[in-house]
Amino acid sequence: MADGFGFCVEAVCGEARAGVLRTARGEIPTPAFMPVGTFGALRGLLPDEARALGFEIILGNAFHLWLRPGAEIIRRFGGLHGFGGWRGAILTDSGGYQIYSLRERRTLSEEGAHFRSPYDGARKTLTPEICMQIQRDINSDIAMVLDECARGDSDYETAQRAMLLSCRWALRCKSAHEENPNALFAIVQGGAHQQLRDEAAQRLAEADFDGYAIGGLAVGESKDEMREVVANTAAKLPRESPRYLMGVGAPADIVDAVERGMDMFDCVLPTRNGRNGQLFCESGVLRLRGAECRGADIPPDENCGCPVCRRFSRGYLHHLFAVGDALGGRLAALHNLAFYRRLTARLRRAICDGTFVKLAREVREKE
Ligand SMILES: [Zn+2]
Repeated sequence: MADGFGFCVEAVCGEARAGVLRTARGEIPTPAFMPVGTFGALRGLLPDEARALGFEIILGNAFHLWLRPGAEIIRRFGGLHGFGGWRGAILTDSGGYQIYSLRERRTLSEEGAHFRSPYDGARKTLTPEICMQIQRDINSDIAMVLDECARGDSDYETAQRAMLLSCRWALRCKSAHEENPNALFAIVQGGAHQQLRDEAAQRLAEADFDGYAIGGLAVGESKDEMREVVANTAAKLPRESPRYLMGVGAPADIVDAVERGMDMFDCVLPTRNGRNGQLFCESGVLRLRGAECRGADIPPDENCGCPVCRRFSRGYLHHLFAVGDALGGRLAALHNLAFYRRLTARLRRAICDGTFVKLAREVREKE
């Protein structure tokens, strides 16, 4: 177990858990949503704005920060906290998903992933050991192992090969991480094949990581397959450790996953959709560019009460998108993050109060 890191479950309701994640930079109540700051910034939002909404942990991406500006530069600032001015905790994804996205522009060997940088064409090799060094330089409070993600519709043999390579890489990451006082999470792969997911969960649990993630979802499998994998895999992960569902997160997906016992989430939806003019509201998704928003003198989401909804009207946000002012995307992203933050806080309260099933039904009905 990493120094100063811990997790405890405080209440359960069925399989759903309300817990607390302890890191060197503070305590994080779970279920927790982590805003995505791939390049070390929340795309135009100030760190203090996310903090004011109640977020204690954000996501960075080791692969991207390694390529730009370079882990060495970030290390000189004392890590990503010093470089980017974020005072809460940081989890960094390893780059397994980015390597997957490079597809035909990369090759994989037992050693690691070989590719050309999408920025300057330079030849690069990312090994589990290099990946751990990058995350140490970044000083992520929670590092993720390097993994190979297979397409969601991969056949058994392809998914098995990727899962076994991911497990071998995870063990190399663990050895390389030994002197790092921060936490290290393993990633369960296996595509849509439950037998492979079970095997990965068992192998990784035996190696005793600080937490466990389900990765390789929302990459081409059906929504039903995804739900099934989450439901069946969560049950196989150690009960006393935090469980993180990577990159999945429409509000109803989060509710489903919490119901199955997952604790941590990240997704670009609130910020990306916000920048595109889509608002997550209590009553469903609102398109701010729509003509019905023009001149509307009501809050963007009448049931919200976030700093954006308290101060600005739906009509003003529509106007900002109509004239292409970047403030529109910023305000919508802030509201959406407030929506996600409120959702996980409500889920947590409902688990503690024993009313989770009722709340879960309400959220699903609005999808
Ligand atoms: Zn709002």
